[in-house]
Amino acid sequence: MLEEKEALAQKLHEEIAKLKTELEGERKVLEDRLKQEEERNKVLQEKENELRLLAEEKASLEEKQEAERLQLQQQLQDIESRQEELRQQVEDKNCAIQVKEAEYQLAEEERQRLQEALAQERLTREEEKFKIKEELMHTKAQEQRVLRETLDALEGEKQKLMADLASSAMVSSEAKKEVVESVSHVLEDEFQCAICNELFINAVLLNCSHTFCKYCIDRWKKNKNECPNCRLPIKSESKSLVVDNFIEKIVPTLSEEMKKKRMQMVAERNGNSDLFFICMYKELILSLKPY
Ligand SMILES: [Zn+2]
Ligand SMILES: [Zn+2]
Repeated sequence: MLEEKEALAQKLHEEIAKLKTELEGERKVLEDRLKQEEERNKVLQEKENELRLLAEEKASLEEKQEAERLQLQQQLQDIESRQEELRQQVEDKNCAIQVKEAEYQLAEEERQRLQEALAQERLTREEEKFKIKEELMHTKAQEQRVLRETLDALEGEKQKLMADLASSAMVSSEAKKEVVESVSHVLEDEFQCAICNELFINAVLLNCSHTFCKYCIDRWKKNKNECPNCRLPIKSESKSLVVDNFIEKIVPTLSEEMKKKRMQMVAERNGNSDLFFICMYKELILSLKPY
């Protein structure tokens, strides 16, 4: 019995030892597992830290991004408003250009109208000029005809007087007087200015065929621009050299009294600057023998 108990105890002892060994093994396995778990926890902790850092970084980046986005939005708004401003300016400029174009168009039309009017005016002027020229030529021809007739009459008178002179041995002073009067009569009729009632001084022929002294018609024109004789408007005037030359030739045949009077008038009208000419003229007249 004891032996049995001892054997059982031995067996139990062995089994306990065996269990102890097994437990020891399991404990070791568990310890290893715990260690592994701790290491894994540590890694996880690190990962969590990393994640937290990343989250923080992300938040800061997002913040920065938001700020940039806002800034860009502001810039975009600025650009848009600037664009709108420029668009408005372009529109204004276009309007101004249209106005200027319209103005230019009007000015161009006005210019063309004026040019046409000018051309018309020029044409009318040319026609008028031509008409006046023709009138002048006509009056000159008329005047020359009158002069020729007067000259012929004077020549006839002279021939007649020469014949009388030849027929009579002596010429009476009465006859001389008659001749002078006869010449004076012709001169008064044909070569007298209707304004001053004297022989023409610097004769001027008007477009209406009437002749006056330059001095007289110049003064007359200050009041009226029409012929004192026929009242036609004065459109043109020209020096009448034929009349001037003729009177110059006739003057020496006048009476001393008439010559003196005429010289005085010429001097008055010409003014002091012509005194020399007047003196020469006087000398010339005195040197010529009276008729
Ligand atoms: Zn006169
Ligand atoms: Zn007239």
